[in-house]
Amino acid sequence: MIYNRVALIGLGLIAGSMAYAIKRANLAKEIVGTARSAETRDTVRRLGFCDRVTDTAAEAVKDADLVVLAVPVGAMAAIAKDIAPHLAPGATVTDVGSVKRDVINAVGPFLSDAVDFVPCHPIAGTEHSGPDSGFAELFENRWTILTPIASTTAEATQKLRALWEGMGANVDEMDPDHHDLVLAVTSHCPHLIAYTMVGVADDLQRVNDTEVIKYSAAGFRDFTRIAASDPTMWRDVFLSNKEATLEILGRFTEELFALQRAIRTGDGDHLFDYFTRTRAIRRGIVEAGQDTDAPDFGRGTKR
Ligand code: NAP
Repeated sequence: MIYNRVALIGLGLIAGSMAYAIKRANLAKEIVGTARSAETRDTVRRLGFCDRVTDTAAEAVKDADLVVLAVPVGAMAAIAKDIAPHLAPGATVTDVGSVKRDVINAVGPFLSDAVDFVPCHPIAGTEHSGPDSGFAELFENRWTILTPIASTTAEATQKLRALWEGMGANVDEMDPDHHDLVLAVTSHCPHLIAYTMVGVADDLQRVNDTEVIKYSAAGFRDFTRIAASDPTMWRDVFLSNKEATLEILGRFTEELFALQRAIRTGDGDHLFDYFTRTRAIRRGIVEAGQDTDAPDFGRGTKR
């Protein structure tokens, strides 16, 4: 047992997966949860992945030694304000938001010195959301990044690290701004590009819908999976990781123009060299165990 009582605020994909993984490895004595809507709270009562579901966040955090904010990034500040007076002295507050600096700026000011704040981000997810979408294996062999702030105690960070490791994750620590830049490259901008590509296909009148769906295995299918991700979560990610995503998108546009020019001028060497370089990156990801080279990207084994 690492924690006595874990309070999950927000009961979607990430919180649900945490609850299943915590229970599987017996990492906490009790899991209490709450969500915004009565519908989600009732669903979780039926699914049973929390020992108790409360109607308010204030009730959920009572006597909890770990409080996990698992709501969209844009909702973190309001939740922090709401729970702050009810937090137990000595408790650890963490969040699982996909952006770190903005969440630290939003949540930090509401927390007293009597609690520890350990911001965190599990680099694991699916395009599904809501209380039905969680599963215990989500974090297995995936990285979770902790971005402790100046006031975070080493003990609080260490305990949270042990929790994530107990859930099967590999854990790293990083500076919050660096996290936001890295994630802009590896996750945020790729999502925006996928959203754009699917939007373009949708707009293109020359290719009718049947053809787009029928031939989607040629690459488009992976874009559609990413572009099916939760609109609220991703709106908040771009609004809160503005600077880093704009910087990476600027570089992306430059490279895209260079490739566009190579196509127009028939510069095959440029295209070949570029694609050779990018292929090596894919190989590195597979070798690091972060994806499979199965022809279907291992879909048969993942949910
Ligand atoms: P989710 O499945 O959509 O669940 C979100 C939960 O937050 C729901 O219980 C929802 O309540 C609640 N909520 C939404 N808006 C709220 C508001 N304004 N006030 C209070 N509660 C609100 O989301 P998720 O995928 O678990 O994501 C949660 C967090 O993890 C986000 O910050 C996201 O950036 C981060 N994250 C996501 C992924 C991913 O791939 N999905 C990966 C890593 C980190 P109702 O159900 O009652 O509406």
